[in-house]
Amino acid sequence: MDAQSCEVLVLGGGPGGYVAAIRAGQLGLNTILVEEAALGGTCLNVGCIPSKALIHVADTFEMAVKAAQGGLPGVSVKQPEVDWPGATAWKDGIVSRLTGGVASLLKKAGVKTLRGTGHMRDGKTCVVDMADGPVTVRARHVILAPGSEAVEIAALPFGGPIISSTEALALEELPKTLAVVGGGYIGLELGSAFAKLGVAVTVVEAMDRLLPHYDAELAAVVAKNLKRLGVDIHVKSRAEALDPEAGRLRIRNEDGEVVDLGADTVLVTVGRRPRLEGWGLSELGLVMNGGFLRIDAQCRTSMTDVFAVGDVTGEPMLAHRAMAQGVVAAETIAGKRRAFDPAAIPEVCFTDPELVSVGLAPEAARAAGHEVKIGKFPLAANGRAMTLGSDLGFVRVVARKDNDLVLGIQAVGRDVSEFASAFALALEMGARLDDIAATIHAHPTQGEGIQEAALMALGHGLHL
Ligand code: FAD
Repeated sequence: MDAQSCEVLVLGGGPGGYVAAIRAGQLGLNTILVEEAALGGTCLNVGCIPSKALIHVADTFEMAVKAAQGGLPGVSVKQPEVDWPGATAWKDGIVSRLTGGVASLLKKAGVKTLRGTGHMRDGKTCVVDMADGPVTVRARHVILAPGSEAVEIAALPFGGPIISSTEALALEELPKTLAVVGGGYIGLELGSAFAKLGVAVTVVEAMDRLLPHYDAELAAVVAKNLKRLGVDIHVKSRAEALDPEAGRLRIRNEDGEVVDLGADTVLVTVGRRPRLEGWGLSELGLVMNGGFLRIDAQCRTSMTDVFAVGDVTGEPMLAHRAMAQGVVAAETIAGKRRAFDPAAIPEVCFTDPELVSVGLAPEAARAAGHEVKIGKFPLAANGRAMTLGSDLGFVRVVARKDNDLVLGIQAVGRDVSEFASAFALALEMGARLDDIAATIHAHPTQGEGIQEAALMALGHGLHL
């Protein structure tokens, strides 16, 4: 068996792993990255990127349909049609450009990539099953980044017409009727995209509302607009069984009533779980934190010189958290004093309208013992939102009542995902309401809504 050695072995080439490997390489550490599937992991191949490409196609098509119906001032279009093969080819092109880019970045940083499945034998040894035989890698430090996988439900095991987000992003043709089981962000992002592409979509959610992990006031705007899109929503309901012949999904609501929904395809998006099998967790015997690997602020696991980053280490399972942890782990190994201690991790739903939440929402701030001031500015009063033909949503700032320290900023509205960086920066910099209110925000932008929300929390909004 071939043997290799390195200072840093990274297991998994998703956002957590590839960023850790690039940073380790940049810092002059002899680094090997092991990836069994495609570089870029869930995010680039079957997650963040292809889903946003699909959403963009769906938004564009919806706009064209609106124009054809005479609903888009100044634009007239004849009957538009979905070119599904064209859409998927475009999406796949973006994915391959990005994954190719990751390969080049790793190379530029001097990282060696081994394509195969890695099995940790102990904290310093990994056997990689490559196409031409196994290779043993001995490493001084290990960074585990095996990511996560879709959760299956017993009543609807994956296979055939019952699909996860991965298959939903690779459908050869559009379904006629789609039931989305699980009304979290992944289900709603994909569900609304398919609805805009002409698929009859139903969403089934066990909790009493959609996006149950997000603030209710923000989620309500998304839910209302989903109904406008024609999405049929069933909350407090559980999917029980699919009759594939009849194309019917049986669901049961909290009163025990059974409803049969038309569904030739069922997309199950009830959550993701850390990938704990197939790479040697039992050989390492690492200490767990609930279902996740336990790590400290430097991303060290319970075993000396073994680090872990990304979805395998906890919520929120998001690419930017994984990447930030990857940097901390690599720099710690290189001897720098680093900690993963963000003031806030932005959370975005690329639904229609988009939703962004950074820091504490009002209820969470009160639950944490704060007396709060809240400023809320409706985007219907924002000039730029009007010129975009979109007046849905609002920007909301939550601050401490005693000293105006900003605790959280949220928004729901068209394209507000781009606010995430400004919101996160405000929280990282320890902004007070005055800092935001006194910052000159360019006109006309929807960002002026952030300034207005801060002004409103201070009691002197200008444009409302
Ligand atoms: P992953 O990206 O899962 O990468 C892990 C890698 O490890 C995989 O490539 C896997 O093949 C490899 N691997 C595992 N075991 C082994 C082994 N034994 N040997 C070799 N390789 C191995 N996040 C966002 O921030 N924004 C979004 O908009 C967003 N949208 C999403 C949409 C969808 C549909 C999905 C499913 C997820 C989305 N996410 C989003 C979540 C995001 O994709 C994950 O949080 C992110 O990919 C986690 O990165 P990671 O490095 O921890 O793991």
